[in-house]
Amino acid sequence: MANYQNQRGTYDAFDEEAISIENTVETLKDIVKFYGYSPIHTPIYEQTELFARTSGESSDIVTKEMFTFTDKGGRNITLRPEVTAGVIRAIVNNKLYATKDLPLKYYYYGPAFRYERPSKGRYRQFNQFGVECVGVNSFLSDVETISLGFTALQNLGFENVILKINTLGDEESRNAYQIALREYFKDKVENMCADCKRRYEQNVLRILDCKDPDDQEIIKDAPKMKDYLNDISKEYFKNVLMYLDEQQIPYEIDDTLVRGLDYYSHVVFEYHYYLKDGTSLGAIGAGGHYDNLVNEIGGPKLSSVGFAIGIERVNTLLQDILKDQLEKPYLDVYVIHMGEETLQTAFMLTQELRNNCFRVDMCLENKSISQQIKLANRKNAKYALIIGENELKTYVYPIKNLLTTTQEEVSYQDLVDYLTNKIILMEDEEC
Ligand code: AMP
Repeated sequence: MANYQNQRGTYDAFDEEAISIENTVETLKDIVKFYGYSPIHTPIYEQTELFARTSGESSDIVTKEMFTFTDKGGRNITLRPEVTAGVIRAIVNNKLYATKDLPLKYYYYGPAFRYERPSKGRYRQFNQFGVECVGVNSFLSDVETISLGFTALQNLGFENVILKINTLGDEESRNAYQIALREYFKDKVENMCADCKRRYEQNVLRILDCKDPDDQEIIKDAPKMKDYLNDISKEYFKNVLMYLDEQQIPYEIDDTLVRGLDYYSHVVFEYHYYLKDGTSLGAIGAGGHYDNLVNEIGGPKLSSVGFAIGIERVNTLLQDILKDQLEKPYLDVYVIHMGEETLQTAFMLTQELRNNCFRVDMCLENKSISQQIKLANRKNAKYALIIGENELKTYVYPIKNLLTTTQEEVSYQDLVDYLTNKIILMEDEEC
C-alpha cells in the first residue's frame, strides 16, 4: 500500500489551527482596509530572473533557497520566495502607477517558498500577509506602515511586540558605509565562514546578517551605519523615530539589522515577540523602505515601503498566547430525524435554516437517534432540532439545548425568531 507523506518543510492545518489561521488573516484584512489598502493577487510563480534581479544575486534567497525549475516550454521558473517582487512586477506591467493616484496601496496574502532548513516557525512553504505602499516620497509613509504593522499585531493579541529598527540611509550613505566595511573586513574575511567570503565579494553589507557565533564576534566591532549617514539620511531617520515616539510606539535601534533582501534603503524594521520563557521564533514580520525596485523592473523611480507578516509564526505564537480562547468549530443547530419518512423534511429544514444564516448540519443517512445526538455533540452543536413522524403533521418541533439539556417546543413559523434570540443570548453570555 502506498504511504504518502507531506513534503519536508510543509504542514497540514485543520480544525482549530486552520480556523485560527483564517481568523488571523481576516483580522489583518480588516485592519489594513482602515488604512486605505485594497487587495492585489499575483501569480505564485514568476520567471526566475525577476527574483534574481530584485532580491539580489548574492542574497541567501537567490543563492540557496529558491524552488526553481524549467517548465515544459523551457522557461526558467521560480516559486515566489517572497511576494513584493511579483506585486511590483504587476504594478509595472499594468502601468498602475500611470493610471491610478499615487501612492498605490495594496495588500496581499498567500504562500511563499524557500528551501530552508525546517524548524519551529520555519517552513519551506509558508504564508505571508503583507502590504506595499508605492509612490510616496515622505518619511510619513514609513511611519504609517510601521505603525500599521505594529497595530495589526497588537489587534491579533500580541501585547508586547518588539519593534527593531535601523536605517540603511540613502545610496550615497550606503556607498560610504560599504567602503568602510570592506576596509574593516579586508584582513578578517579570510577567517570567516564561506558565506561571508562570498558576501564580501558580492554585497559586504550582508556580512552583518551572519549568524555564525565566531563571525559575530568579528562583526561586533565593525563600523556602524550611523557614522556614515549623510545629513539627508540622518534627518529622515530622526523624523521617523520622532513620529514613532509621538505615537508611543516603542522601538529598539538595532544597527546590525540589514535585512535579507537587496532592495532596501533608509528604514528597515522587524517585529519580534518573546514567549514567557524568553524564546522567540525569529521575526514575526519585517519590512522596509525601498527606492529602486520599481525602476529595476522597468517602471519609474518610485519611493515605496512595505512589510510582510509570517502567518505561521504569528499563529504558532497565538496558539500559546490565546490558548483556551481559540475558536473551535461549532454548529448552531443539528437537525435530527427519526426514520426514512422524516429525512426529506429534515433536509429541507436544514437548507432553510442555512439560508437564514445559521450554521446547521445533519446526518444524511438513516442513523439511530442516539448516534445522531452523539454526532451533534461531537460537532459542538448548540441545539438539536428533532423531527419525528408526529412533527411532520404538527409542524411543531422539539428543540433541545445540548448544553443545558432543556427542551422546548417551537412551531415552524417561530423557528427562525426563536433560534435568532437564543443564539444571540448565548453569544452574549459567552462574552
Ligand atoms: P522576509 O520576506 O524574509 O522579510 O520575511 C517576512 C516574514 O515572513 C518573516 O518575518 C517571517 O515571519 C516570515 N517568514 C520568512 N521566512 C519564513 C519561513 N521559512 N517559514 C515561515 N515564515 C517565514
